[in-house]
Amino acid sequence: MPKLLEWFAQNARDLPWRRTDDPYCVFVSEIMLQQTQVKTVVPYWERWMRSLPDVGALAKAAPARLHKLWEGLGYYTRVRNMHRAAQLIVDAHGGSFPSRYEDILALPGIGRYTAGAIASIAFNQPKPVLDGNVIRVLTRLFGIDRNPREPRINAHLWCLAEELVTEASTLQPSATGDSAVARLTSRAGPPKASPAAVTPPSPHPVSALNQSLMELGALVCTPRQPRCVDCPVQGLCRARRENRVEQLPGLGVRARPTARRVAAFVLQDGQRFLVRQRPAGVVNAHLWEFPNLDALPDDADLRKTARRALGFSPRSLTHLCTIRHSITRYRITLDAFRVALRSGGKRPAAPGRWLPLTALRRLPFASAHKRILDQLDGV
Ligand code: SF4
Repeated sequence: MPKLLEWFAQNARDLPWRRTDDPYCVFVSEIMLQQTQVKTVVPYWERWMRSLPDVGALAKAAPARLHKLWEGLGYYTRVRNMHRAAQLIVDAHGGSFPSRYEDILALPGIGRYTAGAIASIAFNQPKPVLDGNVIRVLTRLFGIDRNPREPRINAHLWCLAEELVTEASTLQPSATGDSAVARLTSRAGPPKASPAAVTPPSPHPVSALNQSLMELGALVCTPRQPRCVDCPVQGLCRARRENRVEQLPGLGVRARPTARRVAAFVLQDGQRFLVRQRPAGVVNAHLWEFPNLDALPDDADLRKTARRALGFSPRSLTHLCTIRHSITRYRITLDAFRVALRSGGKRPAAPGRWLPLTALRRLPFASAHKRILDQLDGV
């Protein structure tokens, strides 16, 4: 049995979406896994599947419900695109997930990687995948030292991934991985059909190959301190042979993250709190949040900031919590303050809605503001 697939069969994590080849399940997992770690995704995926078990249920769901199910995963454009994709599948494909690669690729929010993952995992079609994990494995395996973000190098990596998965489609699963890798690393010419193989351990060789490359990058060929001694393709790896593992992939110098300060204000009147919904067309559109002001200078005057955010000057401000998080290249420090209101006085005419905690917990909040909300439990 070839080492790569054998390694995958023995070491692949038991993830809930791997227990099915239902394209809808694969689609949801692949969209959730973009920019998000597996351990974070698992409970979200399970909850999502219980709530919206098929394309039709997703197509009919109210946007607020989808945002609540997605709350905390971030990059909310993903969930809005999933909704539009499901509606398109219902309208254009009668509710059946399309199996044609071009139709999958045409769905909103689906790029070449996700289309390849769905086509190969759910439909066993020899379409390549190239995510960060696969890029790392291929650049090391083939000893590619140019930046994989360069268009020419990126196109070359897609070609390699395609050659591998095309080779896999012609082979029995037991011969798939290592024979294809060996042929390509030796550059002995285009892939040829394999000799007859032994009983296949898996009915889906292209799915197994793509997933084994992704899994190898996630578990063994990691960005730092890869475990080459445990690697099933170490004998074929050019970077290991040439002692260049730590230098690859050559991603160049990353831009330094930009620090950003935010102040948020918690106003409580009796059992009700003031919250606002973010408008369409901005980051975290349609999600709820406490009144706040973004992109503050380091020396921002807190009282003036509060007046700009609220439209009135608060009597006093008490620090509630500091929340640190990252969005794309920004490292954000959010300080939340409780705003004292005059007891028995008129509620300030600040824009937004005054809602009790029970209602707030049902609304989808931007993740940093959800953490502020969690601080208010028990008040
Ligand atoms: Fe990655 Fe090391 Fe395996 Fe090469 S031998 S593919 S560098 S884990």
